[in-house]
Amino acid sequence: MEMCCEVDGAAGRAGCPSCGQQGRPVSRATVGALARLEVEASLLATKHYRFCETPTCSVVYFAPEGVRLERDDVCVAVHQKDNGPGVPLCYCFGYTRARLVGEGEGAIAFVGGEVKARRCACDVKNPSGRCCLGDLRRFLRAMEVDQSEEAP
Ligand SMILES: [Zn+2]
Repeated sequence: MEMCCEVDGAAGRAGCPSCGQQGRPVSRATVGALARLEVEASLLATKHYRFCETPTCSVVYFAPEGVRLERDDVCVAVHQKDNGPGVPLCYCFGYTRARLVGEGEGAIAFVGGEVKARRCACDVKNPSGRCCLGDLRRFLRAMEVDQSEEAP
C-alpha cells in the first residue's frame, strides 16, 4: 500500500506543492468558476482549496489531496502572477492596470460604490475569491510613490 499522501505527516497543513507557501483559503465555488472546461471534474471535487499568491510560482490553486491547478488551468490572468498592463486587478468591473492608471481614484470610488450596493461577484470572478478593493488601493498607492519619485 502506498503512503504517498503522508510525505510530511502534516495532513492539511502542507503548503503549495511548487513553492511551499501556505497560501490563502479559497472556496470551491471560486475554483470551480475559474477553472477551464478542460480541467477534470475530479480536480474540482475537493472541499478545501488554497490560493498561492507567490508571483514566480505557476501554481494557482492547490489542495492537500494532491490537487494542483496552474496558471493555464484558470480562465483569467491572475494579477498576482502576471504584471502585464492588460491584466485586471478588479475582475468584476474589468479594471485592468492600464485602466486604473487612466482613472486613478475614480476607479476606487466607482468599485467601492458597487461593492457597497452588493453588485459585485468577487467570489466567482476574482481568482483570490476576495474583494479587489485592497488590491486597487495598493496599486494606486504604489503608482503615486512612483510618480513622486520621478518628479521631486
Ligand atoms: Zn506556489
